[in-house]
Amino acid sequence: MRRLLLVPLVVLALLAGVTAAVTAAPEGQPTGRTDTLFPQQGHPGYDVRHYDVRLDYDPATNRLDARTTVRATTPQRLKTFSLDLVGMKVTSVRVDGRPAGFRRDAQHLVVRPRVPVTGGFTTTVAYAGTPQEIVDADGSTEGWVRTDDGAIALGEPVGTMAWIPSDNTPGDKARFRFRITVPRGVQAVSNGDLVSKVDRGAGSTWTWRVRDRMATYLAMVAVGRFAVHRSSMTSVTGRRIPIWSFVDPTTGRSTTARAALPKVLRFQEKLFGPYPLTSAGLVVDAASVGYALETQNRPFYPDSVDSATLVHESAHQWFGNSVTLRDWHDIWLPEGFATYAEWLWTGAHDGRTPAQRFDDLYATPASDGLWSPAPTEFTDSADLFGEPVYNRGAMTLQALRERVGDTDFFRLLKRWAAVYRQGNAGTAQLLALAEQVSGEQLDQLFADWLELDGRPAGY
Ligand SMILES: [Zn+2]
Repeated sequence: MRRLLLVPLVVLALLAGVTAAVTAAPEGQPTGRTDTLFPQQGHPGYDVRHYDVRLDYDPATNRLDARTTVRATTPQRLKTFSLDLVGMKVTSVRVDGRPAGFRRDAQHLVVRPRVPVTGGFTTTVAYAGTPQEIVDADGSTEGWVRTDDGAIALGEPVGTMAWIPSDNTPGDKARFRFRITVPRGVQAVSNGDLVSKVDRGAGSTWTWRVRDRMATYLAMVAVGRFAVHRSSMTSVTGRRIPIWSFVDPTTGRSTTARAALPKVLRFQEKLFGPYPLTSAGLVVDAASVGYALETQNRPFYPDSVDSATLVHESAHQWFGNSVTLRDWHDIWLPEGFATYAEWLWTGAHDGRTPAQRFDDLYATPASDGLWSPAPTEFTDSADLFGEPVYNRGAMTLQALRERVGDTDFFRLLKRWAAVYRQGNAGTAQLLALAEQVSGEQLDQLFADWLELDGRPAGY
């Protein structure tokens, strides 16, 4: 997820006033699993295939007029179902083209179609208003974050419900199209590929298409005045990867980071396999949130882009964005891999090796925050971005590497990225693949590093 830049931030679910209102399980959830950390998010009764998100946004007023069409399937017969949505005024809901009943609770839009849905169904929601900035207890923000010349939407872990009615859980990945209309002269950037920019009257409509399946928390829209940089790189497969970068000129030009991006991606292709997405880039926007985020295709950076953060967010395109966690309790998977990717980069570029990093961290006193709670064992969402998730997560990978040896370890990295490309996978899947690749029994190592409270002994 995030890489914290300025201050240690803890993120909790939501404003107390929002979470407090929700106690009952959402409707439209006859079977299936819910997220263990955010059980109020997501609706396992259906599976979203595609979101078509039309936004009309005026930076001067911060008002959003929106219409989102959600194409989904269900193996059941749903009399009602719900989408995650906080704030905004819903003006109409249609299911398969017919007006549907609906009501709201604090975080949901509950839809009652005229006839129950089964198989494929399409829901169109029209809504408008001032989208919410979701504020965490320590002042960090996600959701729809206003900037001095527009706004940026950031969704980790739950902020996308501020602007897209969605199945807002990482297990339900989908394709997206964003059509964003803004005043002419203002830019609108999102995930995926820029399909068109059409000027009409006083406005411009920017259309971005996301062909790689994406988790809702990775959705991003930034509106404001940006310098737009277009280039490309060639993948190890020979494929041309377009690069679109949008840089807020008040932050500088990000010349170094833009030049470094293809080098970083090529380095990572050698280790992780072919770049898994259709396009790349970066978004630098002066949003005072205090963290960078691996928003799909083009990560968001709040100001100047340092090398370690560029490497970290780039690695997330494989680990987190293409291979996505299924449950927020597996957050160590994207964060441990992305942190380990930083160790690999510095190890290859005149810095400390991963083994040295491991040894330095292993000397950390047992009382330190590194050791508790263990990476998969936290119960408070405030620990989602805690040090064990990042550093003990990366140490887990180094311990695994030392156990299975370099050949099997690097084979595992590529296999993990290939087998679960554009899919979802959790810790159990990684353990199974690691045992398959190495022929060794590794459950004790995984348990020591991921579940045991305190410093694992004997490493
Ligand atoms: Zn991260």
